[in-house]
Amino acid sequence: AKSILKVENLKTYFPIQTGIFKKTTGYVKAVDGVSFELNQGETLALVGESGCGKSTTGRSILRLIEPTEGRIFFEGEDLVSLSQEEMRVKRKDLQMVFQDPFASLNPRQTIQKILEEPLIVHRLGNEQERKEKIYELLEVVGLNKEQAKRYPHQFSGGQRQRIGIARALSVNPKLIIADEPVSALDVSIQAQILNLMEDLQEEFLLTYIFISHDLSVVRHIANRVGVMYLGSLVELADKDELYEHPLHPYTQALLSAVPEPNPDLKKERILLTGDVPSPANPPSGCKFHTRCKYKMEICEKEKPEFVDLGNGHLVACHLHR
Ligand code: SF4
Ligand code: MG
Repeated sequence: AKSILKVENLKTYFPIQTGIFKKTTGYVKAVDGVSFELNQGETLALVGESGCGKSTTGRSILRLIEPTEGRIFFEGEDLVSLSQEEMRVKRKDLQMVFQDPFASLNPRQTIQKILEEPLIVHRLGNEQERKEKIYELLEVVGLNKEQAKRYPHQFSGGQRQRIGIARALSVNPKLIIADEPVSALDVSIQAQILNLMEDLQEEFLLTYIFISHDLSVVRHIANRVGVMYLGSLVELADKDELYEHPLHPYTQALLSAVPEPNPDLKKERILLTGDVPSPANPPSGCKFHTRCKYKMEICEKEKPEFVDLGNGHLVACHLHR
């Protein structure tokens, strides 16, 4: 498989500014040294509790938020080195789908206008060609061309997410970063959107980064899963490997909360105690040590390295080295 994206030591810090002179007194380390590689046509899920930095990671890759440090190679080219204008052009290849399709659709614009905008921005086609493209896009996402004249409020949540996906698809991207794309939808609708995303992936050879707080949602769609905690990846593995042999205590706790479809397989719920610490003031050593029942002396002192234990199963924990 061909590598399409390589993220190296990505850091996105937000300054904490206090007082009337907005003096910088510290940093929220939203993304704190994330590295991974993505092959063309695969789906990598990034999972973790809210505030773990998964959305910021997605937005930093597209430079919708400027990374503080690190390199982002897309098809061999470092996106961090591009000017704003070059990046704007490059976003034709890297698109984003958001959680709340309604919030990201202008309520005063028809679907026609909404879908036409990215085509105009990227100078694709003349008016007639754009119109045909929009009709085609609506069909592709399971809507029809008569619906182009309607407004966002005339659609259900699931239909609006189909429109959000059509908008991302309109410029023929190679990579789509979907940030909680089904989290606002009913469970029955979630499955339809996930199926649609899978079909589109096959049809258009898309690569996905699928961001979710829900391990049961990504089980369906992911090839690999990365688990994030306080701005860092703590485990990354092929999907089946991760679900069957989770190694990091945090992954084990998250998975224990996922409903088991087979009632004969009883599993013990691992309850995490304590709150997620603030990313402005993360714990020393292993950032998970304040909530880990396996905590050892070394855990407070030394940051565990993110090491490959074989077959691309990476984990950052002193229990596994
Ligand atoms: Fe727990 Fe230590 Fe592993 Fe961190 S490094 S997850 S504290 S055992
Ligand atoms: Mg988020």
